[in-house]
Amino acid sequence: MTEDQARIRIGELSDKLRRYQHEYYILSRPTVSDTEYDRLFDELIDLEKQFPGLVEPDSPTKRVGSDLSQDFPEVRHTIPVLSLDKVYSYREITEWITKTDKKSGHTCSFVLEEKIDGASIVLYYESGILTRAVTRGNGEVGNDITGNVKTINSVPLKLAKPVNAAVRGEIYLPRDRFDGINKKMDIPYANPRNLASGTLRRVKSSEVAAVPLDIFVYEGFLEGEFSTHVEVLDELWKLGFRLNPNTGYFSDAADLKMVKDNHPSWYTGTVNDIGEYLEKKKRERKKLVYEIDGIVVKVNEISEREKLGYTGHHPRWAVAYKFESPEGITVIRDITVQVGRTGRITPVARVEPVEISGSVISNATLHNQDYIDMLELAVGDRVAVSKRGDVIPAVERVLEKNESGNTTWRMPGYCPSCNRKLKKIGAHHFCINDDCPAQIRGRLKYFAARGQMDIESLGPETLDVLIEKGWVSDVADLYFFNPEALLELPGFGDKKVKLIREGIEKSKDKPFGTVLKALGIPEMGPKVIELLIEAGYGDIDSLFKIADTDDSESLLSIHGIGGKTALMIVEELKKPQIRKRIENLKRAGLRFAVETGEKENADRLPQVFKGQTWCVTGSFEHFKPRELAMEEVKKRGGRVASNVTSKTTHLLAGQGAGSKLNKAAALNVKIVKENDFLKMLAEK
Ligand code: NAD
Repeated sequence: MTEDQARIRIGELSDKLRRYQHEYYILSRPTVSDTEYDRLFDELIDLEKQFPGLVEPDSPTKRVGSDLSQDFPEVRHTIPVLSLDKVYSYREITEWITKTDKKSGHTCSFVLEEKIDGASIVLYYESGILTRAVTRGNGEVGNDITGNVKTINSVPLKLAKPVNAAVRGEIYLPRDRFDGINKKMDIPYANPRNLASGTLRRVKSSEVAAVPLDIFVYEGFLEGEFSTHVEVLDELWKLGFRLNPNTGYFSDAADLKMVKDNHPSWYTGTVNDIGEYLEKKKRERKKLVYEIDGIVVKVNEISEREKLGYTGHHPRWAVAYKFESPEGITVIRDITVQVGRTGRITPVARVEPVEISGSVISNATLHNQDYIDMLELAVGDRVAVSKRGDVIPAVERVLEKNESGNTTWRMPGYCPSCNRKLKKIGAHHFCINDDCPAQIRGRLKYFAARGQMDIESLGPETLDVLIEKGWVSDVADLYFFNPEALLELPGFGDKKVKLIREGIEKSKDKPFGTVLKALGIPEMGPKVIELLIEAGYGDIDSLFKIADTDDSESLLSIHGIGGKTALMIVEELKKPQIRKRIENLKRAGLRFAVETGEKENADRLPQVFKGQTWCVTGSFEHFKPRELAMEEVKKRGGRVASNVTSKTTHLLAGQGAGSKLNKAAALNVKIVKENDFLKMLAEK
């Protein structure tokens, strides 16, 4: 983009964003979705990064979205009242934590709060009396809506102590109260947030009082010395404020237990547990009686917050993890189909490249024909594409139909790879030709990949060569072709061929469970395989017997295996081509039974580390990389954490172990050297 083009686009974006802010904050009637707003906002940030000379001092990115209205007097804030920086994936959260720790030079603890989707408010108290309730405004000046806020029962008018304080909170309307009230509105509001913020802007306080608004406060600027955010929250509670009980505290420091004891409703864990917590919150958000649109991750230590400071838009010591990621608007150029290793056909939209939160998207999944029918999607349509966290982007909806008269896309009747007729099974279309080249390629790649047979030297390109040459057309062929023949081809020297030969040979040692997984039989994933082996189906013949006698009932009696899985296993294991493949792999010497004395999977090793939490540091002679040592701990029932905390029971210390040794000694953590660790592993 040229500078002139950028100037025009920046102007357009700024104007649009200002208009949307007015509709959202003042009128409480947004005309675009939050994701669309966020997308335009991110686009403006990107352009301003590329063309710093074009940044206007009053750019929407430089200031907090203004909710100032002429209906109420304006008051200047005495504390920073900013917005929040946003991310959309756990990966970005871990990057933010690493950056924050690095910037502050300290391993921070974090308080995770629900990001309540309501209206922001600042409450000012003088000698314990509520003197002003002010909207966020533009971050510097807000509207005084004290009369209206006083109607909210949970806002204390007088505090338990006669202190001066400024307190930030979110006023919201519980979901269950929204519907009843909204019905009575002349023009109903789209959601509780809009109704709450619209209500707060009523000129008559009696109208506000009729809506049962509520508040959670989350930040306090108080008199006195506080070293952590947790202490501030505790003090706010003592003063009489309403705090959100659904809060999380994550720390690698020794205070975890104490915080938990003092806040029984809180969720606590180490910093490593944050990912799991975010997932849980995302899953369970609909169960809450109020709406949240994300989780705010905040540094707990006040001294570190001070070091980190603020930008003009947000504090550097907090970040919002938003549940809904922004969308990109683009046009469908083409729709093609992909044939998976199981023959499943997935339609994929090829779209005009569009940037969504930092990455350029040119393909998006369309799942299946039913999904396309639901969207009534055709080539040339203008669509919204979303990227949720780190998963594959998907086409969300059609925004504008194409003008070329293209009708809803239809799945081809035949496989693009082998030209056989496709069959619809459930929601998906399948190519049921086991000899389909696309499926063969997919199966081979899956079989050799990490997590299955792990034949590193057989990457996708080498496999393509083997398939092209006609030397390999099934996974079993990998064990019967002559790798020396590759020497004739360009790019294959002695060293490479030796690695291929060794890799193939070594894969024969893979345990039964892994071999079974590598076959990629539908419904037979690692969990199901583990359950089968645990239930005594530790060899392929016992499974064949089940299939031969149509005995899905026996599989159903295994806790964790459902009807669909049981039937599918029986069907698949009956297939002659699967039988033949397994026979050939058996001939090649692969394991089709749990070896006597062999511990098939992690759970079968003596669980000598159960209940223990290990931290591994330094370098080792027998474990390179040191993750291998961590694996041994996990296989024996132990947990592995990246830092030494009060929860750590053992520190495995190798050569060059640094500060963790001191921390472990201070916390009375057992320090284990490599030799002793080896002895422990040998224990039965
Ligand atoms: P934000 O998303 O940047 O978040 C900051 C706000 O979160 C704070 O002001 C605070 O009120 C609130 N919050 C809730 N719980 C909190 C907690 N525990 N700790 C700290 N803060 C908490 O908010 P914003 O700057 O008001 O708005 C930006 C967002 O609003 C956009 O990302 C967009 O989704 C939406 N928006 C939409 C439109 C539209 O037209 N659809 C227009 C403007 C803004």
